[in-house]
Amino acid sequence: MVQGKFDIIHGWAAMKPGLKVEPWSYKPRPVGPHDVEIEIMHCGICRSDLHTIKAEWENVNYPVIAGHEIVGRVVTKGENVTRFSEGDIVGVGGQVYGCRHEECNECSRDLDPYCSKAVYALNTKYADGERSQGGYASAIRVDANYAFKIPDAIANGHLEYAPPLMCAGVGAFASMIRKGVKKGDKVGIVGIGGLGHLAIQFAHALRTEVYAFSHSPNKKQQCLDLGASHFINTSDEEDLKSVHRKLDYLFVTSTVDPSDYSKYMSWMDYNGTIVLLAAPAGNISFALRGFLFSGVSVTGSVIGGIEIIERMLDFAAEHNIRPIIERFPMEKINDALELVNSGKVRYRAVLDNPVTEN
Ligand SMILES: [Zn+2]
Ligand SMILES: [Zn+2]
Repeated sequence: MVQGKFDIIHGWAAMKPGLKVEPWSYKPRPVGPHDVEIEIMHCGICRSDLHTIKAEWENVNYPVIAGHEIVGRVVTKGENVTRFSEGDIVGVGGQVYGCRHEECNECSRDLDPYCSKAVYALNTKYADGERSQGGYASAIRVDANYAFKIPDAIANGHLEYAPPLMCAGVGAFASMIRKGVKKGDKVGIVGIGGLGHLAIQFAHALRTEVYAFSHSPNKKQQCLDLGASHFINTSDEEDLKSVHRKLDYLFVTSTVDPSDYSKYMSWMDYNGTIVLLAAPAGNISFALRGFLFSGVSVTGSVIGGIEIIERMLDFAAEHNIRPIIERFPMEKINDALELVNSGKVRYRAVLDNPVTEN
């Protein structure tokens, strides 16, 4: 068993349900033969981190260190790890372990996020009983299969732009690939935030006609700059009429009032697909009519498996897809969480650790 660099990992943990995090340290699991230890340089703040620390989704074992848009440097690798060298710049997203067994119903089909043995970046139990802790911290140890080399085109001098790709980026790209989005499709993006502003860029790079939907008209120019062909102000009746039966796909990237979902049906072309990428805490409802008389489907998508994450990084590098970020030093994390929670960050908050050279 190799010795890791970090005997103790210092992070910022939520100690109870709420938005506040405080300094807290833990002793990491040993660096197993298939693991890498990563010194964290940057970590993005995803909305689902907020859902977790506030205990809005599932049971949470406190203390919990959130953060699953992680970018850093490999400092230790297990004996069997051949893919990486020490010093490699890698990203880690929402998943840090999948069984990868040939006979696994999920992993064998590149559906590893759904593997019954999957461990997510935070608040999940490993088989040995330890709990995963996330990226608002000095380091993390993960299965090397779930660390991804950041392409040079992204890493060279622009590393702070990489973290949002690891969850928001892959969430947007994977959903479009899985649902069959293709050149020329009319694609709507609802909610222009961390996920939505990346979804516009991926949809544009896939050569679709992009409709950006927002109730904030002051986001119009930015949406057009990111690649949208149309900006639809959702508070404007005329704008909404103009998209009647227009869209092949609609990606809903933010949670909205559960009673609002039915209106999406009328924007969809016959047999169009509504893809939910964000989930409100309760149930949502759709009028049955929409399904019967227009053949619209409603589906959902989460993060991607290994194959699609690698594709996403190459695609983002090739098409120069880059998030718009606001940076915060790690010790200002509580300010950053507040700003993300109140929707004031455009469009993704990224935490910076003090960088060490070796
Ligand atoms: Zn996320
Ligand atoms: Zn599996």
